[in-house]
Amino acid sequence: MKVLKFGGTSVGNADRLRKVNELLNGDEPIVVVLSAMAGVTNSLVEITELAQSGKMLEAIEKTKELEDKHIKTADGLFDSKMYRKRGEEFISNLFLRILSRLIEGFNQTDSRNIVALGEQLSVGLFHMLLTEQGKRAAYIPALEYMRIDKDSEPDFFYIEQNLKRLMQNNPFAKIYVTEGFICRNANGLVDNLGRGGSDFTAAIVGNVLNANEVQIWTDIDGVHNNDPRFVTNTFPLRQLSYDEAAELAYFGAKILHPQTIQPCKVKNIPVVLKNTLNPIDEGTVISSMKNRKGIKAVAAKDGITAINIKSSRMLLAYGFLHRVFEVFDTYKTPVDMITTSEVSISLTIDSTINLEKIVNVLSQFAQVEVERNQTIVCVVGDFPASHKGYAAMVFDCLREIPIRMISYGGSVNNISFLIDSHYKVQALRLLQQLFPAVSVSDSTHQNIEANPF
Ligand code: ASP
Ligand code: MG
Repeated sequence: MKVLKFGGTSVGNADRLRKVNELLNGDEPIVVVLSAMAGVTNSLVEITELAQSGKMLEAIEKTKELEDKHIKTADGLFDSKMYRKRGEEFISNLFLRILSRLIEGFNQTDSRNIVALGEQLSVGLFHMLLTEQGKRAAYIPALEYMRIDKDSEPDFFYIEQNLKRLMQNNPFAKIYVTEGFICRNANGLVDNLGRGGSDFTAAIVGNVLNANEVQIWTDIDGVHNNDPRFVTNTFPLRQLSYDEAAELAYFGAKILHPQTIQPCKVKNIPVVLKNTLNPIDEGTVISSMKNRKGIKAVAAKDGITAINIKSSRMLLAYGFLHRVFEVFDTYKTPVDMITTSEVSISLTIDSTINLEKIVNVLSQFAQVEVERNQTIVCVVGDFPASHKGYAAMVFDCLREIPIRMISYGGSVNNISFLIDSHYKVQALRLLQQLFPAVSVSDSTHQNIEANPF
């Protein structure tokens, strides 16, 4: 059993959906997880925000635009008149649900129901396409098996029991189609796994079914060694370890949702990143296979806030660190990076929802300074502590960049540092010197890595 997840651009219009259908020709049973069509979740979120701020007419107008987009897709998708009609009816029914919620009054649960429609639309249409094409396909509604607990973690036991039951009810199917991203929460209400969460759905499904592979299909040939939006001559990496991929995803490589790796790693399921627009490319394989030491990739995460906390006494005075972290714990705010000196500690956070409260509490026992608009740049690879030269190589490239914090040695897979976001593009470009020059035509080259030896 394989799990194949197709992202928003891979299902972004009728032609793309047909291309996905053409890719599904093997004999092995598969689960297909789909995102909403590109841009649709953003529009749905916008509709809920307009409705919440009382701008109902604008919300309804936006809803109509989105309905038209889906109707157009249905018109180009099906061969027969009968299926075009079925598709249109299906779309109109779902949009009626949005409109009635907007008109009848509006609450938080309605928002989540509306945001969930993006995946329900893409999956409904795609399942109809497979049926029209004569494929043995079954629709497995995510809302009937995907569930998170009160800590918003997937309830693996529930998911396994229910997904298997639903699949067994369709024993003749070869392609099981399901929605990414959407789920029910501990109260049984419609919820989601967070933005970009369809990758996580695929990983959870792969985990509970003991899949032999999870494929994530996007619109680029796998994970690149640097950010192709800002740097020229980047190239796809052919192999990464689970830990390297997790660091890259967490620290900004946009290609994969950061929570995707763990459910696959614990079951040793390879995650393969593939390109729908270039399916013959081998993509990137993320697995437990040992690969070469050295620097493999660079990623950057924006929107970081640095907090400097200076103790009125010595830092290591008993209990100080405990008191500091307790505050972040109380406000459920994850800390990304930490550095310490004798009297102070600098750390970074991503979510600033509770920043004001955190600063207020910390200020009761320390001096606190906050700096916004920071970027974490993360150099990923495999650099055991016994090997020399890696940190020197990285910081040698960055002589011109003012560096605010450095974190090295927390894991053998990551050297990261904090800079003002203003310097991000320059830093990424300078770090590209770490990689041997590769022309686009060489980009299928195996395992091109920087290595000081
Ligand atoms: N459609 C959702 C989003 O845009 C989930 C996903 O695409 O992974 O965040
Ligand atoms: Mg995505």
